[in-house]
Amino acid sequence: MDIRINLNRLKEDIESLSQIGRDPNGGITRPSFSRADLEAREWLKEKIKAVGLSLRQDGAGNIFGRTDGEGKTIMAGSHIDTVINGGMFDGSVGVLSALECLRRIKEEELEVSKPLEVAAFTDEEGNLVGDFLGSRAFLGQVKREILEKGITQFGTPFEKILEGTEFTYDTIMSAHEHRPDIEAFLEIHIEQGPVLETENKPIGIVDCIAGKNYRWCSFLGRTSHAGTTPLELRHDAFLGLADFALKSTQHVATKHYGNMVTVGKIDVMPGAFNIVPGQADFSFEFRSTSKETLEELEKYFLALAEDIASTRGLKFTSKILDKTDPVNTSPRIIDLIKEECQKLGYPSIVLPSGAGHDSQVIASIAEVGMIFIPSIDGISHSPLEQIKWEDLEKGANLLLQVIMRLAT
Ligand SMILES: [Zn+2]
Repeated sequence: MDIRINLNRLKEDIESLSQIGRDPNGGITRPSFSRADLEAREWLKEKIKAVGLSLRQDGAGNIFGRTDGEGKTIMAGSHIDTVINGGMFDGSVGVLSALECLRRIKEEELEVSKPLEVAAFTDEEGNLVGDFLGSRAFLGQVKREILEKGITQFGTPFEKILEGTEFTYDTIMSAHEHRPDIEAFLEIHIEQGPVLETENKPIGIVDCIAGKNYRWCSFLGRTSHAGTTPLELRHDAFLGLADFALKSTQHVATKHYGNMVTVGKIDVMPGAFNIVPGQADFSFEFRSTSKETLEELEKYFLALAEDIASTRGLKFTSKILDKTDPVNTSPRIIDLIKEECQKLGYPSIVLPSGAGHDSQVIASIAEVGMIFIPSIDGISHSPLEQIKWEDLEKGANLLLQVIMRLAT
């Protein structure tokens, strides 16, 4: 079908949404249920109505715009919340490209046999109570306890955040009740990494979303005087952490290249020039597209940490913050995307997603497909996040073709 999106209009939408939640420190700060997010939600609802879609919002604040029709729904979307000082493309590209596709289909009065829906899911970025609150609630996979005990990453109880909204624990818990039957969910997203740019390809077709293991760990040693304690008599918690960070990275680099391991946050105590650190707390995360590798790495890292602790006279503790399995996208949709790429003459590669996305949650009830477009310099979650508009045009055109293929 020879139909194309209107790039100027899509660009205008992305630029005008990016005006909401501008952070004086740079970029965009629009965490779900913040004042900026509430404003962005109203903006999106107006857009959905202007396209002539029926607007629906569930109890978790997920926003949908739907066309008429019987049968299973073909859904496309992403999220409009951002990280702190984030960029203007992460999430917005997925929601507004899907909206543009539905707008084109309505304008051309194209015949589709299935209902189409654009979706914007709440708190994909996990600023409130862990990743994917909206899509998890949409599936009925949220534990009430997590909401009740939830402290957001800003230190505010989740309860307080909800007070400023029309939502409650009850509405979030029942968000899944009126969910339509979904056949497929499509998400176009910036790659957030450097692979497409390096390969000089405008389109990435995601075959797998990596699973992850997030932990908060500590090495406990003994605080002592930096001037008087001989090196061999120290129980230096920071050196335990440094040794662990290097050896774990070396292990992945040499034995499991392609997987990821990161120490991202460190608190060393007491944290003074002249004191040997008695405690080092740190975040530790690793990711893989293979469940077996994740399990193997978990065992290896825990044994490594214990080994380092005993060699250095330390104690090691670790607790899991989050753990997800890798998720495969639908082989049927991968084939469809490949076929449409060929027809449109867009060069593409198949690649995994190292970052998490709503698609991985929805994969448990529907076939999912993901299209990546390049991030300039691989930068994301930053005010410097950028794309080439012609890449977005290709990605959104591709999305439109795939929606038509699935819906007719
Ligand atoms: Zn995103």
